[in-house]
Amino acid sequence: MIERFENKIWLSSPTMHGEELEYVKEAYETNWMSTVGANINEVEKQICEKVGCKYAVALSAGTAALHMAVKLAGVKPGDMVFCSDMTFDATVNPVVYEGGIPVFIDIEYDTWNMDPIALEKAFEIYPEVKVVVVAHLYGVPGKIDEIKKVCKKHHAIIIEDAAESLGASYKGVQTGSFGDYNAISFNGNKIITGSSGGMLLTDDIVAANKVRKWSTQSREAAPWYQHEELGYNYRMSNVIAGVVRGQIPHLEEHIAQKKAIYERYKEGFKDLPVSMNPFDEENSIPNYWLSCMIIDSDAMCQQVRDDSKALYISEKGKSCPTEILETLAKYNAEGRPIWKPMHMQPIYRMNPFITRNGNGRANTNAYIESGTTDVGADIFNRGLCLPSDNKMTKEQQDIIIEIVKGCFE
Ligand SMILES: *Cc1c(COP(=O)(O)O)cnc(C)c1O
Repeated sequence: MIERFENKIWLSSPTMHGEELEYVKEAYETNWMSTVGANINEVEKQICEKVGCKYAVALSAGTAALHMAVKLAGVKPGDMVFCSDMTFDATVNPVVYEGGIPVFIDIEYDTWNMDPIALEKAFEIYPEVKVVVVAHLYGVPGKIDEIKKVCKKHHAIIIEDAAESLGASYKGVQTGSFGDYNAISFNGNKIITGSSGGMLLTDDIVAANKVRKWSTQSREAAPWYQHEELGYNYRMSNVIAGVVRGQIPHLEEHIAQKKAIYERYKEGFKDLPVSMNPFDEENSIPNYWLSCMIIDSDAMCQQVRDDSKALYISEKGKSCPTEILETLAKYNAEGRPIWKPMHMQPIYRMNPFITRNGNGRANTNAYIESGTTDVGADIFNRGLCLPSDNKMTKEQQDIIIEIVKGCFE
């Protein structure tokens, strides 16, 4: 019999190393307990070197960075903006902060990211759109070349949400450097953390300087507080930057641990009717932030979800995300459903949703017949995120694998 874990196995929790405390202490002892200081300058420099971008502006959160990116892209009230559909809502909310209208673009099965074919379709329907917000889910780079090609053809600005994919690369180039304005995050459960924090990345010096100004209340050069533009209090604290500074040297180590977790799951599940979240093995190297799996359609037991609850009927040889997540929780291990697609969220129920076949609102659930429509709903239905904490031992992971196998018995 499998016993309940005494200490919880987390989905993805902060992994500290000690150096963080040294840099925080340095901030304290030198009294740079503010939004200026050596830690901030240093992390901006180091992230530029790592990602390969010219400018980085350290901010209070990845969401703040996305908000600044949306402002830089010039989104005005009433403007439509194409956004990844299956993602965390922080990808799209900043569009709404500026009065924009997110138009959700379906994802594809190869990388679980924005489908370039659906994106092209969206430009046929809304040729006036000028901004595209694209996320790399769970640390897996999307179809960057294809998306860039479509955006170039339609003269659209790309905002890259690389919050989950720091350290992941596509054709040897780091995510966070493909868009015009890009965001990364140091939220507590990301691949490296500051406890909170984020950065705006760009090669455009004018854009970087605007964000430095906007994020510190838009002060003009004058002897008093002079303001010509709307300001924000979005700058990163030098204390937070100290934590980030201590984490950056461990990024590659974290990625290696996460990769080992992914590969152990892949091996452990090879006889189950499931597969791991896929990536383009030829062109991309993920950071393996979260290990996810998807159950084969014919191995799904019955499962229904409304806006707050889920029910399923257990069946021999079959399972579903709800059964697996509830079983993991019973053993004190944390999994998570796949991000519920934005077009399925009550707050965004009126927003357009575009699939390869055109208006996805017109044919929701048609994927059952066609196999191509509403990929996001399908992956949300059949997929889940597995415990992916880099402090989980091999022995603990073996137990998780047995628990998941048990769901199919
Ligand atoms: C975490 C995350 C964000 C937001 O980052 P914060 O630092 O938490 O504001 C944005 N987009 C995605 C896809 C994320 O996972």
